[in-house]
Amino acid sequence: MAASLSATPAATPAAPSTGHALPLDLLIVGAGLAGLCMLHKARRQGLNALVIEAAGGVGGTWYFNRYPGARVDIQSMEYSFGFDEALQQHWHWTERYAAQPELLRYANHVADRFALRDAILLNTQLAGAAFDEASQRWRAVAEGGQAWAARFLVMASGPLSSPNQPDFPGLARYTGRVLHTARWPHEAVDFTGLRVGVIGTGSSAVQAIPVIAEVAAQVTVFQRTASYAVPAHNGPLDADFEAGIKADYAGFRARNQRMMGGFGSLQPPNLVSALAVSPEQRQAMFEERWRIGGFGLLGTFHDLIVNPAANELAAEFVRGKIRETVHNPATAEALCPRHPIGCKRLCVDTNYYATYNRPNVALVNLQTSPIEQFTPSGLVAGGLAHDVDALVLATGFDAMTGTLLKLNLRGRGGQTIQAKWQAGPLNYLGLTVAGFPNLFNIAGPGSTAAFTNVIVAIEHHVSWIADCIAHLDAHGLATIEANADAEAAWAVHVNTVAARTVYLSCNSWYLGANIPGKPRMFMPLFGYPAYVEKCAQVAAQGYAGFTLA
Ligand code: NAP
Repeated sequence: MAASLSATPAATPAAPSTGHALPLDLLIVGAGLAGLCMLHKARRQGLNALVIEAAGGVGGTWYFNRYPGARVDIQSMEYSFGFDEALQQHWHWTERYAAQPELLRYANHVADRFALRDAILLNTQLAGAAFDEASQRWRAVAEGGQAWAARFLVMASGPLSSPNQPDFPGLARYTGRVLHTARWPHEAVDFTGLRVGVIGTGSSAVQAIPVIAEVAAQVTVFQRTASYAVPAHNGPLDADFEAGIKADYAGFRARNQRMMGGFGSLQPPNLVSALAVSPEQRQAMFEERWRIGGFGLLGTFHDLIVNPAANELAAEFVRGKIRETVHNPATAEALCPRHPIGCKRLCVDTNYYATYNRPNVALVNLQTSPIEQFTPSGLVAGGLAHDVDALVLATGFDAMTGTLLKLNLRGRGGQTIQAKWQAGPLNYLGLTVAGFPNLFNIAGPGSTAAFTNVIVAIEHHVSWIADCIAHLDAHGLATIEANADAEAAWAVHVNTVAARTVYLSCNSWYLGANIPGKPRMFMPLFGYPAYVEKCAQVAAQGYAGFTLA
């Protein structure tokens, strides 16, 4: 899923002449799970496809995010491909929530099982791609000079693949080791006996902090916004549970497809309002979901995401858990988030809050003690010097658009994607962009991917793209391009749906609010089943909202 992070917007490459460019049906950018799935599907359809990947291996997210404690926050039995019965029967997850090494093994297994590697070029960074109107092909060039002329360009470069490295003034003065969770080294990082500073308290930090604290001499956490974390209750995968799902994996997948996020059918939302039950009943229902763990807490009542008053009851429940868990009342209070729960993506944790009871863990609240300067030995926040041997930036991603905007894409008339998306990532169905014919984006803005089990979202997008190409081929058509009016209406739709929820009421990466200067536009769409229906409807109507030529 990850393309490169080193890529910076550069001058558009000269479109290579067709003579030197390898002709392809599909050029796929990124060899994460999306790229692998797209490649396999395209080949089964008889298409000539190639994947280029900036990294030295396949796996995307799971190739790069190797920080201590990294694991999936959707249950392993759901976080896997459903397109091949033999694959899903064969693969065995060892834990309820798989850890990064196992997830990376899974990606490699998929690449080997379906013999995909001969069509994957690793260590190959896309320098740019331009739509050539004369040949109706995408002319793409890699930094190494290789060139392709592809009918279709498929961006499988990942919604969370461009790390956010904030421009901390004076960070260069710090002489210790600086690590980013999303670009973790491949060799083991040993924090034993070290003083470690962690900046950020999102999902990555919430997973990493408890694991680092087990060996470090001291962990100092610099928190700008407190996070809601729900216990994973991770552990070895129960053999009976696995066998039960494998006995009808297809049925399990189908039931998940009907859920708002494409997952969680084992624990569907209760169809009752949080405001319609007594305080005692409410507490008992929250407790039940807390005991099970994971995202299901947000389904305790059907209105937690759409009704601020109901949401506040869930938020206060979690704050109660924080106060119960964290012994130091001041630390507990600082760890209590104030924004609506679920507004920023919920974290799924193992021992996060309890870690603050360790004598070697301290919290610095950047709201009251902002970072003032970096020094050779650490940083100063709120007038206090914090000396650390290593600094972990768990500062997240330039989400959904970051990677694409670095990739130097040009559509019709030479329009750059940067110009097109100046005010936000306009697109139709999250899959296509007006003015950029035959360009498809997997799991991007305008789709439900960020709110969905991303593998489910990927498989849906891959099928839709493959069907669309089959339709063009069957009708002797060369191009498909979203219409500008359909695109404009889609942006209104995505934001109208968001406006019915609590999602607009905090500074999340969904809104682009974590990146200074990024246009504020709510990027993901909420509600997977309705989205799938809409995409199918558009196709059934001969690709309504598109121009086919
Ligand atoms: P994140 O949720 O965006 O968290 C980044 C953290 O860094 C936030 O606490 C943020 O504070 C802080 N931060 C950013 N810039 C800062 C600055 N200039 N000064 C101080 N603090 C700053 O990123 P993430 O934790 O990497 O997670 C991103 C997404 O990746 C998740 O939402 C999830 O979708 C996915 N993910 C999933 C898992 C999993 O469990 N499977 C694990 C990791 C990531 P503010 O909140 O104030 O911006």
